[in-house]
Amino acid sequence: MDDIVLLGSTGSIGVQTCDVCRSLNIKIKALSANSSTALLEEQAREFQPEYVAVSDVKYYKEIKTRLADTSVKILAGEEGLNELASLKCGRVVNAIVGMAGLVPTLKAIEAGNDVALANKETLVTGGSLVISKAKEKGVSIYPIDSEHSAIFQCLMGADENKASKIILTASGGPFFGKKRSDLVNITKEQALKHPNWSMGAKITIDSATLMNKGLELIEAVRLFGVSPEQVEIVVQRQSIIHSAVEFEDGAIIAQLGSADMRLPIQFALTYPKRLPCPAKKLSLFDVGELTFARADEDTFVCLSAAKKAIKLEGNAPCIINCANEAAVSLFLKDKIRFLEIGETVEDALSQVKFKAAPTLEELLETRAEAESFVRKKFNLSEEICLL
Ligand code: NAD
Ligand code: MG
Repeated sequence: MDDIVLLGSTGSIGVQTCDVCRSLNIKIKALSANSSTALLEEQAREFQPEYVAVSDVKYYKEIKTRLADTSVKILAGEEGLNELASLKCGRVVNAIVGMAGLVPTLKAIEAGNDVALANKETLVTGGSLVISKAKEKGVSIYPIDSEHSAIFQCLMGADENKASKIILTASGGPFFGKKRSDLVNITKEQALKHPNWSMGAKITIDSATLMNKGLELIEAVRLFGVSPEQVEIVVQRQSIIHSAVEFEDGAIIAQLGSADMRLPIQFALTYPKRLPCPAKKLSLFDVGELTFARADEDTFVCLSAAKKAIKLEGNAPCIINCANEAAVSLFLKDKIRFLEIGETVEDALSQVKFKAAPTLEELLETRAEAESFVRKKFNLSEEICLL
């Protein structure tokens, strides 16, 4: 099996990617994290990569000292991350959280590397650029997000038969069935308790606000070339059906499995091969019943804002993504309330400058503008770090 470069190795997806690599003996050529040097050191000692990078330059000295007795080359900052993404390898696994993953994805593609992509913000913020560059370079993007992996799997063997509809499933998050008045005093501890999945903090909050499903709708439009109207969001509370595809004749093909990210991660690494996986196998008898419901967009306004943004196109998806990243970071610091996340996303969409065909530079400007919009909205001092 080909070697991989693993960006964001210390996070939830990163650690599970290490599990898969351990079980299949996949060689890791490089590892990166933002700041978690202890875990990064542990991973470097186990997997013996050629390179390790910390994206936050403050941690360069620390990781250098920790790995001083090894031959690992240590890099730092955005440049270091981009250098890792450009190393020739079988797959670059992008498990970074947030728009910080966009440029490394583009660098990987420019270098001709196939990408196993968990970082959905890449496709939300820079989708058109990423997809056109991948086509130009003949590079494949293998989705890790469980829903998109499911759709990808359902489309295998479809040949020229096009999907008439994509059924994007959602767990509904911890507040399914609640109304806005029930959500006024939600704390971060409550929002961080996802019923089915154990994930990083940002995506767990996104699942509670349903922003995650909005981002995934945009991700599906980018990856599978469908219109937003062709994507139907269905709440499937048990997270057993990971998504489905409907064809012209009405046949629906779905992918089912336990709620364990190691299966989609592994498939993005081994495609088209299916190999034994550390993820728990599913027993339908244990599941018992599957339920289906509609998402409530009046309560979960992030989802309706994401739908508006993908219809507007241009930098609109980038605006909502960056406003959300900033708002979630503030919510996790107890600086704003739960419902203010959705309000921030909606307000940013109507107030941050729209650009119809943004370049990468303009997307990075949009990010800065969205951040400064949020700063002004909540009267924040410069010391409070947003993204
Ligand atoms: P996480 O917060 O657990 O881990 C993020 C990783 O990125 C860490 O290694 C961290 O050090 C690194 N990182 C953070 N900020 C960075 C920056 N500015 N520059 C470079 N590296 C940085 O996140 P996660 O839950 O593993 O999610 C990673 C991505 O995968 C997200 O885009 C998320 O939406 C997506 N995803 C996650 C899951 C899941 O089960 N966790 C499922 C589907 C999709
Ligand atoms: Mg998902």
